[in-house]
Amino acid sequence: MGETERPYDVVVLGGGSGGYACALRAAQLGLRVALIERDKLGGTCLHRGCIPTKALLHAAEVADTARDGRRFGVNSSVDSIDLPAVLRYQQGVVSRLHKGLQGLVSAATIDYVEGTGLLTSPTSVQVGDRTLSGRHLVLATGSQARTLPGLDIGGRIVTSDEALRLTKLPASVIVLGGGVIGVEFASIFRSFGATVTVVEALPRLVPAEDEAISKALERAFRKRGITCRTGARFAAAAPDETSVTLTLDGGETLSAELLLVAVGRGPVTEGMGFESAGIVTDRGFVPTDERLRTNVAGVYAVGDIVPGLQLAHRGFAHGVFVAEDIAGFAPAPVLDGGIPKVTYCDPEIASVGLTETQARERHGEIATYEYNLGGNGKSQILGTAGFVKLVRAVEGPIVGVHMIGARMGEQVGEAQLIVGWEATPEDVAPLVHAHPTQNEALGEAHLALAGKPLHAHA
Ligand SMILES: Cc1cc2nc3c(=O)[nH]c(=O)nc-3n(C[C@H](O)[C@H](O)[C@H](O)COP(=O)(O)OP(=O)(O)OC[C@H]3O[C@@H](n4cnc5c(N)ncnc54)[C@H](O)[C@@H]3O)c2cc1C
Repeated sequence: MGETERPYDVVVLGGGSGGYACALRAAQLGLRVALIERDKLGGTCLHRGCIPTKALLHAAEVADTARDGRRFGVNSSVDSIDLPAVLRYQQGVVSRLHKGLQGLVSAATIDYVEGTGLLTSPTSVQVGDRTLSGRHLVLATGSQARTLPGLDIGGRIVTSDEALRLTKLPASVIVLGGGVIGVEFASIFRSFGATVTVVEALPRLVPAEDEAISKALERAFRKRGITCRTGARFAAAAPDETSVTLTLDGGETLSAELLLVAVGRGPVTEGMGFESAGIVTDRGFVPTDERLRTNVAGVYAVGDIVPGLQLAHRGFAHGVFVAEDIAGFAPAPVLDGGIPKVTYCDPEIASVGLTETQARERHGEIATYEYNLGGNGKSQILGTAGFVKLVRAVEGPIVGVHMIGARMGEQVGEAQLIVGWEATPEDVAPLVHAHPTQNEALGEAHLALAGKPLHAHA
């Protein structure tokens, strides 16, 4: 074992969204920082998550646009999907962002340490023969794909990790899990020409979203030829040479060339010395208080290992928060309730704040309004269907915004400001929204809820 080095102000374990954001902000604030990463800087989001999947979704959109060209008077069609070329495009995006991030970290006077870190005390981390000690430790070791008992990953049974590295497009896919990752892959595979079935144990797809959104997504998926089996539980899976057969509770079987398991992500915290350093975990997650402090003084946790939403921008916000807290800035806590969510399937889903059900529980009496994209010029130009749903506390602010339709993810910024600043429909109604944009749909929904609808068909 090597000698102990001069202590850092902050030692960050894990270089994903949460960890690198923390390291960058801490360095900006003049703190001496070490960032430990065993794989690639950027973590899940950059290499196995947000970015590669969204590149695939964009290629999928290009395929759909070409396929639908005639609808717009353009005589285009799709000859075939060249998967190696799609993956080259995807890798190009990832590599450029990876290089950029490496540049940011090296310019930021962060000591970037490659290797696997093991906590040897609440103030020190062993990496190979180095012992890095810090006044503060930030745990940011992230998450990994889960599976179910009796469901072994391998061959035709894959998680999102392997699905991003396929060398051949399957003709048919069963997606087990109708959450965010499941429906995004279902959308990609369908656009690339596969027969797709989504199997979800709960009664609806994207169960964390407002019920109206789940219904609209199911309808849109059915229209796209995606089969949705909700309330259907996995019992067994048996792969053979050419296919995999999925048995549901009750004995029904489905088969496809590929089974994508998208049943959630679990924390990566085992075998890293957390428990022996006295850090309490709960089913592997690291519980924290609102200020992201673990039960051990000086040790923080950020990102996916903290119970709650598993989103890259939550990780960024956690990381920045912790750096500022350590530097003594007393930042406001990052609350899951104000974090925007986007699901990038086709049609896209974007939401922030409370669903109708949650709002009823929290506020009792509420009012809701659904503005149909049928009245929105730009959505009609794009040929998309969907809506903006507002949830308001009666006589009070907007507490939830829920949107579905092509490209509606881009509208979540304004929705977040409205919910975050507790605006009422009457506050938003006088704001002029540019025409013709999909953003107008948000303005029109508020106009209608404020009692002065313009292009709203009741
Ligand atoms: C398919 C998919 C699509 C997604 N799409 C989106 C999206 O569109 N938008 C969105 O907001 N989120 C998305 N996410 C979620 C997002 O990727 C995560 O929320 C985010 O990456 C979490 O960041 P993190 O820093 O907590 O963990 P991670 O990004 O997982 O990073 C943790 C890092 O710690 C390292 N590490 C772990 N243990 C050690 C150790 N002992 N020593 C050294 N290093 C260690 C790992 O190698 C890893 O690089 C997606 C995820 C997946 C899987």
